[in-house]
Amino acid sequence: MNDLFINGSWVSPALASEGREVLNPFDGSVLTTVAEASAADVDLAVSAARHAFDTGPWRRTSARERGEIVRTIAAYLQRDKEDIAHTETLDTGKTLAEARTDVDDVTAVFEYYANLADADAGRMIDTGSDTAVSRVVYEPVGVCAMIAPWNYPLLQMSWKLAPALAAGNTAVIKPSEVTPLSTVHLVRIIEEAGVPKGVVNLVLGSGAEVGDAMVRHRGVDLVSFTGGLSTGQRIMATAAEGVKKIALELGGKNPNVVFADTDFDTAVDYALAAAFFHSGQVCSAGSRLIVEDAIHDDFVAELGRRADLIRLGNGLAEDTESGPLVSAEHRDKVEGYIASARAEGARLVAGGSRPADPDLQAGYFLRPTVFADCTNAMTIVREEVFGPVVSVERFRTEAEAIALANDTEYGLAGAVWTNDASRAQRVAAALRHGTIWINDYHPYLPQAEWGGFGKSGIGRELGHSGLDEYREAKHIYQNIAPAPMRWFKGAGGNK
Ligand code: NDP
Repeated sequence: MNDLFINGSWVSPALASEGREVLNPFDGSVLTTVAEASAADVDLAVSAARHAFDTGPWRRTSARERGEIVRTIAAYLQRDKEDIAHTETLDTGKTLAEARTDVDDVTAVFEYYANLADADAGRMIDTGSDTAVSRVVYEPVGVCAMIAPWNYPLLQMSWKLAPALAAGNTAVIKPSEVTPLSTVHLVRIIEEAGVPKGVVNLVLGSGAEVGDAMVRHRGVDLVSFTGGLSTGQRIMATAAEGVKKIALELGGKNPNVVFADTDFDTAVDYALAAAFFHSGQVCSAGSRLIVEDAIHDDFVAELGRRADLIRLGNGLAEDTESGPLVSAEHRDKVEGYIASARAEGARLVAGGSRPADPDLQAGYFLRPTVFADCTNAMTIVREEVFGPVVSVERFRTEAEAIALANDTEYGLAGAVWTNDASRAQRVAAALRHGTIWINDYHPYLPQAEWGGFGKSGIGRELGHSGLDEYREAKHIYQNIAPAPMRWFKGAGGNK
């Protein structure tokens, strides 16, 4: 199993291991077995990245040339789009249409950072003196450890790698052990595109051993992590020991606020997509629906009716609208949340169980689930479920809607639906979340920052800020007419 990529070579783990089976969530079959790295491989990978950063050509390559290589990666992603999408569907269970969109989105991110690579050479500073020249330049941070989750394996890693490479960093990357396959493909593309050896190193394995070793390693300058809140808290504490820079993209509990004056059918349609896209395994899923009293009952009824009509199936089949959850373990966790909602008094409107369809019994399926009569004291409303479950709350006034929408420890994303343009802007301004959609849900742009308020994380990905995460600002000041300044005139010693 030569699927670790260290110092420009595909290698087996340093310590013998049986590897790890990667399962297809549609039917639980084994897709392949991949290498299982250990802390020893992390050490080799970080050493390679360190050596490449300290002595290698990458950070001294002109920003324009780095940009060209990043652009080549984008081109190869498009060349291999069908292959990668197929792999991502097998590995994650998402539909092919979603997986193809992921590849297009990832391509756009690499193109964006290719364009940005040489767009900003720093700035001149007015020193207020004609004998001093001062400028601020940007340099790469160094060796970056990148750890990604299983829901958007290719996409989440690319949001980190594209800006890091454009800025001249080196990296050790670890995808989730559950869905590593598209990242292996990406690294093959990176190799083919001409990124020098040691610049990108891939390790596969568990977060508890491999991820933790990456965060602890003294050779790492920055840790960029996307994943759950509790893992993020642990990583932040560990990184603090080495005063490493960190970027955290954590969970969300995202409010989707619907006013009665909105277009009913459109809002229901988007509420469905917001909650059930990729079976709700999306950090920005609209899992908290907050609906104005006047339309609440009709809205809930229509949402439940349409949720029941979503066709579950094999992501590879073109008529499948939603795939399985990623693993049996994860489905158990989501079912635990469904049980808690029932126990705490929420009213089940749709779903709530596994599908009866005999063709779906081997996979990790769960029916799209709608709970009404929810309150913000319920676990289902407070905690990130990360599955096909939406809770509905009711409001009467704009102020109440805002208060409910902000009543979360997270702050990743949210939406407001209204045909009143002034209200739309008022509510968008009042919501404490990193992205607000007005009369829409889910779109993101490579050019616009993504990240969270509150416990949804630290830092931003995408946009200019996404590049800044991987750059150090350095001030260079030159006195161009040095002469003795005689601050100490020698007024007499005190021996
Ligand atoms: P986890 O936090 O369980 O895992 C994320 C990654 O961290 C995996 O690669 C995992 O390894 C690794 N990891 C686990 N423990 C450690 C550790 N102690 N040290 C270092 N690395 C570790 O999240 P999930 O994979 O379950 O992903 C779902 C979560 O991701 C959700 O909470 C979701 O909201 C969040 N997310 C946030 C996004 C955002 O943009 N804010 C986007 C997408 C997801 P392994 O699993 O291989 O053992």
